[in-house]
Amino acid sequence: MIDLHVHSTASDGKDTPDQLIYKAKERGLTAISLTDHDSIQGLTLAESVAQSVSLLFIPGIEITTDYLSTELHILGYYVDYQNPKLVQACQKIQAGRQERAREILSRLSKYGYNLSWEEVVDSSHDFVGRSHIVDKLVDKGLVTPRNRDAFFDLYLSKTGRAYVPHYYITPAKAIGLIRQSGGVPVLAHPGRMRGPWDLAVLVAMGIAGLEVWYPLHTKKEVTFYLEQARHFKLISTGGTDYHGRGQQLLGCLGVPEETIERLQEAAAN
Ligand SMILES: [Zn+2]
Ligand SMILES: [Zn+2]
Repeated sequence: MIDLHVHSTASDGKDTPDQLIYKAKERGLTAISLTDHDSIQGLTLAESVAQSVSLLFIPGIEITTDYLSTELHILGYYVDYQNPKLVQACQKIQAGRQERAREILSRLSKYGYNLSWEEVVDSSHDFVGRSHIVDKLVDKGLVTPRNRDAFFDLYLSKTGRAYVPHYYITPAKAIGLIRQSGGVPVLAHPGRMRGPWDLAVLVAMGIAGLEVWYPLHTKKEVTFYLEQARHFKLISTGGTDYHGRGQQLLGCLGVPEETIERLQEAAAN
């Protein structure tokens, strides 16, 4: 069992990087990649724990990008996470994320939902996303757990009352960043990406893989994306997008072993 798409507390996951590795080992996974949103902060710890329990670890990242007002997520595998340009880019994106979170808090307060910055920020990492904000509102009793999703839709979704757009880089820039740090760029969950994007354009930008196996992809979509990957000579990858919430289990998608070899080969070239 292989899982190439997993989030930890270094972005919006519930499990710390070390907890994730222990869970993966317990479930019998043979390989895992930690792919936090715009963050490399969990990779050192995850890699060292994976080594100590003899689990194959692939350092990863998931970069949020903007392509003609459509959000596209680009995964990067085997990135050198000490690469200065990658580190700097992540810091810049996180700073933008924090600025945005402060603006969301100020908008929410106009509707009577008061949260201070100190209440949402966590000393262990820099990531402050919308899910952290709504979690804190639930913790404080300002939103009931039952209304969490409805609240998110009404206030924090793209059309929500307190929504603030994010600072995003372009897919071309993300692909370039991943490549210059030795990594393999892969388009995440194409089935979830609505809007005017075109795989041929991303291939021209240098994308090397396509996330074919994904919990929200239908059987039909999996077949379609496998075919697309073959057509464009892309590496087919897969992962659960595990965040430690809900029903999604680590490593339950049947991603073939050869995926790892293909990623290793591509990273070495
Ligand atoms: Zn994503
Ligand atoms: Zn993800």
